[in-house]
Amino acid sequence: MHAMVLEELHGPLVWRELPDREPGPGEVRVRIGACAVCRTDLHVIDGELPDPRVPIIPGHEIVGRVEAIGSGVEDLAIGQRVGIPWLGYSCGVCAYCRNGQENLCDHPLFTGYTRDGGYATATIADARYAFPLADGGTDVELAPLLCAGLIGWRSLVMAGDGLRLGLYGFGAAAHIVAQVAKWQGRSVYAFTRPGDAASQAFARTLGAVWADGSDQMPPEPLDAAIIFATAGELVPQALKALRKGGRVVCAGVHMSDIPSFAYDLLWEERQIVSVANLTRQDGIDFLRLAPDIGIVTHTTTYPLERANEALGDLRHGRFEGAAVLVP
Ligand SMILES: [Zn+2]
Ligand SMILES: [Zn+2]
Repeated sequence: MHAMVLEELHGPLVWRELPDREPGPGEVRVRIGACAVCRTDLHVIDGELPDPRVPIIPGHEIVGRVEAIGSGVEDLAIGQRVGIPWLGYSCGVCAYCRNGQENLCDHPLFTGYTRDGGYATATIADARYAFPLADGGTDVELAPLLCAGLIGWRSLVMAGDGLRLGLYGFGAAAHIVAQVAKWQGRSVYAFTRPGDAASQAFARTLGAVWADGSDQMPPEPLDAAIIFATAGELVPQALKALRKGGRVVCAGVHMSDIPSFAYDLLWEERQIVSVANLTRQDGIDFLRLAPDIGIVTHTTTYPLERANEALGDLRHGRFEGAAVLVP
């Protein structure tokens, strides 16, 4: 197999030829068709997540086909198309796992962060975290659903049922969530970097009823806001945009410090919550609905060996939607 490997923090990734590994018990080897690039990959590469591990193959939005099956795997078949997400393993015995909160597992492994991921031609996955995918859509189109879509879905559920939904940071996740929210009959208010007319126009094409800079107030108070951007100062900004009893959901794995703010912003039962990882049930729920919703992912593809260029373009906001690596 070939892979783009993070050998030292801060990169760049290096093209390497590696031996194909055989799947262990409960694992499968997947021949990769596409792997989307997530902002979290930048946090991994920049060493911004705790206990970074190198060398590591980044990438946790993988679509591919099962090509080898380890012992004890019964519900996947050779040739079957699967998607592999960020949470790549949970222990199954800790209090969180036993309580239906495997997303908070005490001993997890994360794809592309603490176990090798999808910037490669093949990967080994825990079969429990290889979600069967339906036939519709290409590998490239489906790859962004595996994190941007899944974490977006969990965030949307966490935001509650309110009809007026704000999305701060209109990148890969928001462009999917906007479509889901619209399908659910909600109104989407898109907040971008101030002056980013291109992202605001992009948001409107996906059905946002309003789009403006994150320093602006929406025309009416929001029921909930999801923050996909990594800037902590957006938390008080989003609180200001909420109605009484509204909720701010922080969806990122990393965020800069949140500045202090007046208690008045939180008063009247406004809430701030974070979303961490995903459960297999999130995957089942979202991937079952996705074909009905008719989500259209906007992708920019790069050959696998140009992963560094894709990451640079993501860092500098040079495309709308999601970047996808193709081996
Ligand atoms: Zn991600
Ligand atoms: Zn656990």
